[in-house]
Amino acid sequence: MLEIEDLNLHYGQHLALDSVSVTIAPGETVVILGANGAGKSSLLKSVARLVPSDAGSQIRLDGRLLAALPAHRIVQEGIALVPEGRGVFGDLTVEENLLLGANPPRARTDEGERRAQVYDLFPKLKERRRQAVNTMSGGEQQMVAIGRALMSNPAYLMLDEPSLGLAPVMVTELFLALDRIRKSGVALLIVEQNVRVSLSIADRGYLIEAGRIVGADTAKALLNDEAVQRAFLGKTDERG
Ligand code: ATP
Repeated sequence: MLEIEDLNLHYGQHLALDSVSVTIAPGETVVILGANGAGKSSLLKSVARLVPSDAGSQIRLDGRLLAALPAHRIVQEGIALVPEGRGVFGDLTVEENLLLGANPPRARTDEGERRAQVYDLFPKLKERRRQAVNTMSGGEQQMVAIGRALMSNPAYLMLDEPSLGLAPVMVTELFLALDRIRKSGVALLIVEQNVRVSLSIADRGYLIEAGRIVGADTAKALLNDEAVQRAFLGKTDERG
């Protein structure tokens, strides 16, 4: 169980996360919905220890406090982040990017098997394994980023707006792959603007507004929630 409890994060005087509490059970898929600047990326970066949360914030994995660990130890604990903008190495080939993802000790032993699983999930990457990543489309680069994160053998995979900037057909392909990852038992924590498609594979979702969690429910209930529909699904209030 990944537990985020009373997470506060300041950037200077600015309070970007205000007493945020979120839990993700093993194998569960959870979506964080919120407008630009609501704090979604900051939440994922806090869990990955890429930004330091305020004293008193609690982030626990199976009861162990993660707050004192550096970022590379978080990957070793089984939590991987696919950052916004993907963070792939453009000059390197697909396969070189995947190999870099297999660096943590938890991944080294069965690196070959894991690489075969990534190629099974994304056959296009196998075809293009010797191609430099910066010559590939945005969707293919997103697959490389997800594949690299999977190489670390995560129990929890966090994705920051994975569909951003992708053509609709690529978004569909991407979420089919995420659904397969989910079904293989990896828990997903997804920050998305594409609310409908992300809720369609999720178990639960949270609404975040100006750094605060303002709602939480099952994915099904959120899809049918009028406020969510108004805010994110382009439906207008009939009363104007
Ligand atoms: P987006 O979808 O636009 O990325 P978000 O919901 O992911 O938005 P964050 O990127 O987490 O939001 O930002 C939350 C708030 O913190 C915003 O007001 C943002 O301007 C501010 N912020 C984020 N990173 C920093 C930083 N490094 N220094 C100062 N302020 C920051």
